Amino acid sequence: MQVPFYGHVQQYHNIKSEIDDNLKEVLESGQYVMGPMLKRFERELADYHGMKYAIGVGNGTDALWLSFMALGIGPGDECITTANTFFATAEAMWIAGATAVFVDSDARTNCIDPAAIEAAITPKTKALVPVHLYGQCADMKAIRKIADKHGLLVIEDNAQAFGAAGDGFKIGELSDSVCTSFIIQKNLGTFGDGGAVVTNNQQVDRVVRRLRNHGSEKRSCHSYGFNSRLDDIHAGILSAKLRHIDEWNDVRRERAARYTAGLAGAKSITLPYEVPGYRHIFHLYVIETQKGEHRDPLLNFLNQSGIDAKCHYPIAIHQQEGYPWGKQARIAGPILNSERNAACCISLPMFPELTDQEVDYVVEKVREWESRTE
Ligand SMILES: *Cc1c(COP(=O)(O)O)cnc(C)c1O
Repeated sequence: MQVPFYGHVQQYHNIKSEIDDNLKEVLESGQYVMGPMLKRFERELADYHGMKYAIGVGNGTDALWLSFMALGIGPGDECITTANTFFATAEAMWIAGATAVFVDSDARTNCIDPAAIEAAITPKTKALVPVHLYGQCADMKAIRKIADKHGLLVIEDNAQAFGAAGDGFKIGELSDSVCTSFIIQKNLGTFGDGGAVVTNNQQVDRVVRRLRNHGSEKRSCHSYGFNSRLDDIHAGILSAKLRHIDEWNDVRRERAARYTAGLAGAKSITLPYEVPGYRHIFHLYVIETQKGEHRDPLLNFLNQSGIDAKCHYPIAIHQQEGYPWGKQARIAGPILNSERNAACCISLPMFPELTDQEVDYVVEKVREWESRTE
């Protein structure tokens, strides 16, 4: 059996008429950039979050650094985050001229460890940037408390957790800005690149709106800015998909539960941990081998069995050779959990079109590997 990692084409076929209708509407309108479809999608996106503002931008990385700029985060400022994330979290800090400070992640959730944040705060600390890794919210209540105590900004990297929620808090409720990516592989993905900033902060809304469009609020009038817009074509695709995101996330949760039931008791691996009361939307279903040296053998065995398992992320940011160390980044304290996560992680196939039979086949193969290595 072949088990793919994504089901993009299948997803398109499942809601083809809805996507095609929106595309036709945009194409027939003649307004493809900053047009009515973008406006409509921005309204739907803000409403989905129960927030005031949503601004479509070119991608998730831009959503992050445009938020940093709008909040006045720049050279000399430190932003605290984790090293076990996609590279763009830190890259956005680098683009804004700020310094990335990496603290450890929680051993079970792999999201930022609030206790490690406290210890890393200096007079230069300006913002906390939690990543809702793999589809589960970081501990935003604890993060908000620390931010209030020290007068810090909070920017949520929500590229991986669209539609997730915490225990008694929603995404966006406890932060200054929520940054989302719509690249195809995210839970809400377009057929290409896209991103958005969602916020209740009027200044963030106003400045990001201006920055994404050449610093222009009024036709022909410009301050400094950039070009980072979400095209109406993508807004149309996303508007059609947004209607289905909760149902797709529910299916992901069901498939995750099936993996977890099937793999329960496996001694050679650790299964994903869902914090009680949280809604984890399983952007990725990540298991960890007990030891780093077991990861590649298991991954290779799965790949050879026709299963397109992957790693997110095998090289933590501080382990990247190309990272600009020195002025623009430092590590605060040991980050052993993040390093273990990088060494041991395997992402099993996870997408809403995944079938029960495919899940069962993956479970069978992991079990087979375990019985062989015992
Ligand atoms: C995907 C992702 C981004 C960046 O999104 P792009 O749209 O690719 O720029 C940022 N942070 C995290 C955690 C991501 O997974």
